[in-house]
Amino acid sequence: MINKMYYEQIEEVTMMNEAVRRLKEKGVKVTPQRVAILEYIVKVNDHLTAEEIHNYVKSKFPSISMATVYSTLQKLIEIGEVEELSIKKRGEACFEPKSEGHHHLLCTSCGKILNIALDCPPDCPIIKQSLIKGCKVNEVQAYLYGLCPECLRKEKEEKAAKS
Ligand SMILES: [Zn+2]
Ligand SMILES: [Zn+2]
Repeated sequence: MINKMYYEQIEEVTMMNEAVRRLKEKGVKVTPQRVAILEYIVKVNDHLTAEEIHNYVKSKFPSISMATVYSTLQKLIEIGEVEELSIKKRGEACFEPKSEGHHHLLCTSCGKILNIALDCPPDCPIIKQSLIKGCKVNEVQAYLYGLCPECLRKEKEEKAAKS
């Protein structure tokens, strides 16, 4: 148990240093709040709303405002560390660490957004065309709508209970 905690702390410190290094490298003024925001987004590696990020950072810096969270997010998007999803989570913008392109599935029951890694087939009809309506397409990101594994399981259980 002691060992596990020890390693978790080491891991956190490493991640923190990594966040600081990346901010410095990109010429962003390093503040503890900015580091905490970036570190959290990278660590959770999910699709977080600004409010969820604010709630977490507030636990470390009680006086941090929502405006600071927004301006930090803008900065992190500008330097390519964070990406804002075009898909909304319960009507709210959400953010994730910048990564290789992937698709997103929105669970229409619980509102969760899941990453879906699907390679574009070489004969993808969209990529294959050099121009679509005069536009050059560089990347395809699909939005899928359906049920996440948990909601699917619940639905099956409910159906089984009824029959
Ligand atoms: Zn769900
Ligand atoms: Zn994602």
